[in-house]
Amino acid sequence: MLITKYLSFSSLQLALLTLIFCVALATSVNASAADKHPVAIAIHGGAGTIRRELMSPEIEAEYRAILSKAILSGHKVLTAGGSSRDAIIATITLMEDSPLFNAGHGAVFNHEGNIELDASIMEGRTLNAGAVAAITQIKSPIKLANAVLDHSPHVMLVGAGAEIFAQQQGFKLVANDSFKTERRRLQFERIINQEQSTAELPETSNPLLLKYQFDEKKLGTVGAVAIDQNGDIAAGTSTGGMTNKRFGRVGDAPIIGAGTYADNESCGISATGHGEYFIRAAVAHDICARMAYKGISLQQAQDEVVQGKLVKMEASGGVIGVDKDANVAFSFNSLGMYRASINQHGDLLVQIFKQD
Ligand code: ASP
Repeated sequence: MLITKYLSFSSLQLALLTLIFCVALATSVNASAADKHPVAIAIHGGAGTIRRELMSPEIEAEYRAILSKAILSGHKVLTAGGSSRDAIIATITLMEDSPLFNAGHGAVFNHEGNIELDASIMEGRTLNAGAVAAITQIKSPIKLANAVLDHSPHVMLVGAGAEIFAQQQGFKLVANDSFKTERRRLQFERIINQEQSTAELPETSNPLLLKYQFDEKKLGTVGAVAIDQNGDIAAGTSTGGMTNKRFGRVGDAPIIGAGTYADNESCGISATGHGEYFIRAAVAHDICARMAYKGISLQQAQDEVVQGKLVKMEASGGVIGVDKDANVAFSFNSLGMYRASINQHGDLLVQIFKQD
């Protein structure tokens, strides 16, 4: 009886309660919208001597199309509330599968005529990271790097050991031949012939080599950096390394702090270029550290390292990055860098050359 007494509201009281409830609901919806951190994503598909005059409009359109597709796939994950890690994995996997880039299918040949792949991923909230190097039978190296991050007490696994771990994690082994493309084989053979001959090699007349002659340096590493609605940054990089590499050579891409770094306190970076120099310059970490220690912008920090430190070392390449406020920046000291971004305002940018 007492309960009924207390629960019996007049219609005025009911109307008032409904109003209070609606105001409270609207405020909480607004608050959660405002709580969402702005999202942003940046990607690269390698930096180097990309010569506009040698690139046909068809090939240029192909590159722009895959860059757009890759960036949109990552951005979709972010706007749906997914993590920055999932966003960059979606993006990088797409580029690993494309024969246009030097990662996964379409990677460059090593000295023995095989493909050896490197990749790394880092999470800015926890500073956890995973990396794999010199793997030869895993379709998506970035996914394996991610499995190392999640399921291994170690940061970096290499070669046969990494592939045993992969199998334990349910990855299927694929044939090394499945990564090989005719374009990369021809580039490799030309380099081998050059090494063996003392005379100047004649200009190529091979139509496939001519088609891709704008990219004589055979670069094309891929990478992505993103910030999600929680303000968490992630960065990742995947590559076949350098053409004709020998003796188990590993570049900067799988080295945390060189090719990849992410820290929620500053920024996330993925690099591409001549790996030996990028390792020695600790490029990705140095950019984040300069932001943190000097209080400078992402663009300034990138330029100090890429246009300053690396140029002094005569090292060519570039970086992409996203900072903790969802600003996006690029810096490269080569003729071009395949790149794309969607910033915190949703603006899409897809570029290849310096003057794009
Ligand atoms: N950084 C890569 C490596 O040295 C190559 C590249 O980015 O093109 O393995």
